[in-house]
Amino acid sequence: MEKKKKPNRKLRFLQLLQILIIYTLMFAVVLSVGRNVLYSVGKHTVSILESSDFKGTVQPENAGTLLIWEKEGTGEEGRGEMEAILSQMRIPFEEREASDFSARHLSGKDIAVLSVSDLNSLGKGLTDLLDWVSEGHSLLFLFPPFNEATFLSVSDKLGIRTVGNDMARVEGIHFTRQFMPGADRDFPITDPYKSSLNVTLDKKCEVFMESQGQSETPLLWRYAYGQGSIVFDNLSFLEKAYRGFHCAAYSLLDDKCIWPVINGSTFYIDDFPSPVPEGDSQFIQKDYGMDIKDFYTHHWWKDVYNLSKKYNIRYTGLVIEDYSAQVSGVFPRNKDITRFQYFGNMLLREGGELGYHGYNHMPLVPESFDYMGLYDSYRQWESVEAMRDSLIELRNFCQSVFPGEDYHVYVPPSNIISPEGRELLAKDFPEIRAIASLYLPDDNDVSYSQDFTVTDDGMVQTPRIISGYVLDDYMRAAAMSELYFHCVNTHFQHPDDVLDTDRGAALGWEELFNRLTDYVEWLHSAIPQLRNLTGSELTGAVQRYDALQIRREDTARGIHISLGGFCDEAWFYLRVNEGRPGRVSGGTISQASDGLYLVKAASPELEIEINK
Ligand SMILES: [Zn+2]
Repeated sequence: MEKKKKPNRKLRFLQLLQILIIYTLMFAVVLSVGRNVLYSVGKHTVSILESSDFKGTVQPENAGTLLIWEKEGTGEEGRGEMEAILSQMRIPFEEREASDFSARHLSGKDIAVLSVSDLNSLGKGLTDLLDWVSEGHSLLFLFPPFNEATFLSVSDKLGIRTVGNDMARVEGIHFTRQFMPGADRDFPITDPYKSSLNVTLDKKCEVFMESQGQSETPLLWRYAYGQGSIVFDNLSFLEKAYRGFHCAAYSLLDDKCIWPVINGSTFYIDDFPSPVPEGDSQFIQKDYGMDIKDFYTHHWWKDVYNLSKKYNIRYTGLVIEDYSAQVSGVFPRNKDITRFQYFGNMLLREGGELGYHGYNHMPLVPESFDYMGLYDSYRQWESVEAMRDSLIELRNFCQSVFPGEDYHVYVPPSNIISPEGRELLAKDFPEIRAIASLYLPDDNDVSYSQDFTVTDDGMVQTPRIISGYVLDDYMRAAAMSELYFHCVNTHFQHPDDVLDTDRGAALGWEELFNRLTDYVEWLHSAIPQLRNLTGSELTGAVQRYDALQIRREDTARGIHISLGGFCDEAWFYLRVNEGRPGRVSGGTISQASDGLYLVKAASPELEIEINK
């Protein structure tokens, strides 16, 4: 009996030990969740790189595109837009002023783009240009020229049957084909004016967009003229928010078109976590009968959080330590960290990340900076040292509340930053690798707007294209435009959007949240392959996009791409206007919309077959 009892006791001890180990492990898990360790796992699927990580160069391509522009308002605007579009598509081009243009400038070119209002400025060049197209080349009318005798004399060659005397007022865009991601929905145009030529077309024209409603004015069409093709962009909106539509028009010209894209979607939450924001609480009180603090926890965050879980969004929150107006001296630590921990840890646990917004909401500008009367409550910093001290305090605060987290993204408060502030970030805060300000220029000269690029100091520009919950027609157009041009979505929301009548507070949170949900659903269905990235992953994606050099060569079976500045992956859109892509070596391909394909290069040499 004794002998039997002993192993029994040993067994009991082992069982106890087992239980103890399990409990210890469980406790360690709970502890590590609290310490943000667990949710670091699996993050940063797109890493941030150093410039030395990008290898190889390729021989530059010959300029196959000629941009012909006219020295007057619209011609110059179109030239500016087209220069930005072509250079970001890495399409080499030459330029020629219209009155200086002659047929010899077309030698070695396949495509011409016309940014010209008065076709008379081309002189005899116009006939030469159209003859050249009929021999098998392509021509893009970037915007409708003046409706006058010379235009009318060639309009039949552009697929036009009749031209009305009056210009058409385009109140909305209807997509007749799903040629762009998200084209399954029409959208109204904000502030419509008489922008487009009122035309009827030859039956042989392929129409891609027309105006919504009664008039059905064609807005984008392609017409086979002789052996060549003409694309007519009748949209007229020459501004940054519509670049993707002109990029789309350009991509319809040749039998195929390939250009590098970012493939990333990032949702930022500015001022989050932060102390309870101030604002007009009347709508919250009316609809929810609670104060701002409780509303944020029980409604706003609950909804915004659940949306992210449903669509795999990993938010990037931008921390504000204190809403003080202090711009000099010693910056006191905010000791009230309950909200920071609650919201911040939930965001991190879902694979999100945090970045810097500021110790407070005062933009990093020196005393000489002029706010142009736009921000009454904002102050300038006493010195660059004071800006530095405030950011050091923010850094220490973040590290103490969220130990072990990395902070790579900076969002300037109110999208304002001075050259001094920018230099400070690049020099003294090496952890900051990206500045995310505005993409679309603001009406005022105070805001800082950017392109998706890397600047000489190595800082990555990851601008935010659209914002807020109102998501009006203009924002929807800009979002769709960028989904084509760069395959990118960047959106930012402020918790206090709900409190600001200028940002739609009167609509109520339910309606505002419906609009955000509707946008996210549209985005998700527009292109399901779009990668959900955090701010620093987008930083890595923009680096890979920016460093890329591309050399395209036609082969007997399709197209060969050689890449310089390649590291581990690169993304492209390929539009195929004749045939369908077949086998791909050196990468993978998937369909993004009618005739549009998303290509991932896994090697610097890529071969894509195109079956005609
Ligand atoms: Zn802010």
